[in-house]
Amino acid sequence: MTNARENSICNHTGDGSLCGNTPETICNHTGKHSGEDSLCGNTPEKNCNHTRNHSGDDSPCRNTPESIHRVHFVGAGPGAPDLITLRGLRLLEQADVVIYAGSLVNPALLGSVHEDCTIYNSAEMTLEQVIEVIHSAYAEGKDIVRLHTGDPCLYGAIREQMDRLGELGIPYDDTPGVSSFCGAAASLGEEYTLPGVSQSVIITRMAGRTPVPEREALASLAAHGASMVIFLSAGMLEEVQRALLAGAYTENTPAAIVYKATWPEEKLVRCTVGSLARCGKEHGIRQTALILAGDFLGRNYERSRLYDPGFSTGFRNAQRDTEDV
Ligand code: SAH
Repeated sequence: MTNARENSICNHTGDGSLCGNTPETICNHTGKHSGEDSLCGNTPEKNCNHTRNHSGDDSPCRNTPESIHRVHFVGAGPGAPDLITLRGLRLLEQADVVIYAGSLVNPALLGSVHEDCTIYNSAEMTLEQVIEVIHSAYAEGKDIVRLHTGDPCLYGAIREQMDRLGELGIPYDDTPGVSSFCGAAASLGEEYTLPGVSQSVIITRMAGRTPVPEREALASLAAHGASMVIFLSAGMLEEVQRALLAGAYTENTPAAIVYKATWPEEKLVRCTVGSLARCGKEHGIRQTALILAGDFLGRNYERSRLYDPGFSTGFRNAQRDTEDV
């Protein structure tokens, strides 16, 4: 791994981008940046204040010590207020300004902010207004949390905010959250990746005001027959049903509609691909729901190799020999 500057410690390796970190200003990523075993050996004392990600050709990493004043993007989780992360909750408790996605974030979470905190509902704001609020609060030295539903990285419209903040020279970080598709699986007691059934999850949506690229049309993604999670499409169940049936799913393929996963008013509707539209109608679900489809919702699967007594792993020796490797 090579870095742009001599002595630099951060080992970002994605796309050949060189991270211009120096020992004084190193990135504190502990996760993998892109390479298969490229662990970033940075320390928690010293932080990276990304104003953009590390994928650009020669985007320097403008790091500063941890005391840097940053805007915090935070994933609120799917709904239940105790499904926010500990880090997200701490940031929320410290915030002077919270801008939350009011259409989907459970307002119960706002009970965690301190009494002088100013709260904005981004459902009533434009991108420009959100950035303006952040900009002036930042200039006043305030702690700012931008609270998004689930995990901000899915349909969160965070990239456009991050880019504007980057242009303004305002640093930010991002605290992940439990996405609603994980909350939905948990509520149903299901696993998307069952051996012998599917080892892939397709996360997608129908086109709405936001278009979906033609090559990602639901019917063509449905050709894989993988575990399918469809966001933002509960108002288009007939179209979803038709597209799924145009792919590898049949009328009898198991499906589910999960309304407000992990909220008190959660509804779990199990059905089949052939009855999706009818079931949605019967239960009056038209929004704030996920549509799941695939045989992972059925009964059959193979047991995992990982916990098979016949297999050795790096942590456990096989109890008996087996040819079925
Ligand atoms: N970032 C969010 C998704 C935001 S897009 C996440 O990670 O979950 C908004 C869409 O997400 C909704 O239209 C709905 O399809 C889905 N969604 C969000 N929260 C949900 C919940 N608690 N239960 C079911 N669907 C949810």
